[in-house]
Amino acid sequence: MQVTFHGAARTVTGSQHMVRVEGRDYLLDCGQYQGRRREAEERNRNLPFRAADIQAVLLSHAHIDHSGNLPMLVKNGFRGPIYTSPATADLCVPMLTDSAGIQERDAAYLNKRNERRRAIGMHHQAQAAVQPLYTLEDAQGTFPLFRPVALHTPAEIGPGLTYESRDAGHILGSTCMALTLVEDGRTVRLGFSGDVGRAGLPIINDPETLPPVDYLIMESTYGDRLHKPIEAVGDKLEAIVNRTYGRGGRLIVPSFAVGRTQQLVLMLHELINAGRIPAFPIFVDSPLAVNITEVYRKHSELFDAEARQFSDKGEDPFGFSRLRYVREVAESKALNDLHGPYMVISASGMCEAGRILHHLKNGIGDSRNTILITGFQAANTLGRKLVEEWPEVPIFGEMTKRRAEVQKLNELSGHADQQELLAWMKPLAGALKKVFLVHGEPLQQQALAAAIRERYGTEVVSPEAGETHELD
Ligand SMILES: [Zn+2]
Repeated sequence: MQVTFHGAARTVTGSQHMVRVEGRDYLLDCGQYQGRRREAEERNRNLPFRAADIQAVLLSHAHIDHSGNLPMLVKNGFRGPIYTSPATADLCVPMLTDSAGIQERDAAYLNKRNERRRAIGMHHQAQAAVQPLYTLEDAQGTFPLFRPVALHTPAEIGPGLTYESRDAGHILGSTCMALTLVEDGRTVRLGFSGDVGRAGLPIINDPETLPPVDYLIMESTYGDRLHKPIEAVGDKLEAIVNRTYGRGGRLIVPSFAVGRTQQLVLMLHELINAGRIPAFPIFVDSPLAVNITEVYRKHSELFDAEARQFSDKGEDPFGFSRLRYVREVAESKALNDLHGPYMVISASGMCEAGRILHHLKNGIGDSRNTILITGFQAANTLGRKLVEEWPEVPIFGEMTKRRAEVQKLNELSGHADQQELLAWMKPLAGALKKVFLVHGEPLQQQALAAAIRERYGTEVVSPEAGETHELD
């Protein structure tokens, strides 16, 4: 019985771990590696195992860094079942469809560019055509393989392997899981945290703990950090909206389509109902976010008490009179001609592509406006430059003066911080032989490893990519 760490090893992306029992291999997550183009391409295209040899996949949640390479697995011959929660299976349809579209458009763009360069003599030899990582067809080949399993329900995955999932409180449908491995009369219990969420996040329930396990694979994204308390976020949003509205300005909100957009809509709905902000026009301008919100509506059984108050009254938590969901490009463009204060929530979350760029281009030069950053911004992205309040930022390759105010709502982070991770694993600490830290940068992992050793005296390992560990 062993586990091999193929992805999210000393990095926060590309979650992919292989479990071997009774001579058969299973994958925990099949995430896409995101980062510099060449490296990402290399890692995502060249699977470190034979896809057809994988018996089954256990998927923790729908985020692309956990699910995004499933179509690649299928493209390479995997035909086994993908076990996950019902909401995750539903979310993966719009998410992987969107991801395939991005791959296809990226490849088409590069091919066009190479053609242009050859035409002007920059390339002397014909370049091989760039193939997308995977296509819409590959993504669609993935969907029939999903086997939804309800939380708290043990499922047999293969000879000597059963699993049971719990609510990870990270995004809708997110799970942590406990695996039981049996081989030669020996039993090993292995926990996998997936991404651990936080108590008090809007819409979804708080993270549940796992039953006792011998080994634990745990994420460490914010292993060195403490978040600001979530309770203050409503007051902060109220103040930002009212200040911008008072100036007659627009609120431009780059946002991730899954999770963050729905949280914002719900909080705005509550603030309007309580009369704390004016009922002014709000637009969710992202086809993906619209599709994801439909999956949220379908899974109201996963809502926390706060979000359930709306459903109990027969109200739609994600719909109110001044809110409009925008699918069509023409309608998105028309927003630029709108007068008076309004709010637009649009993708991408890090301002790297998509409709948000047009809204920023049109609104960034006006000091009445506010750009509200709601999520993590990776290095070198436009979002990061905005967070760092650069006076001029590149939009569509052109340096553009920023006069709009920039505000941040870091409180909504979906990842547990150091104290929350320690609290989450506390009920497990007594029985644990070893913790494997994954899904974190080295500095974050070192800080969390030190804290775990000090508090619980547990052995901690930060595996490198490709490292195998025996479980006994
Ligand atoms: Zn996640």
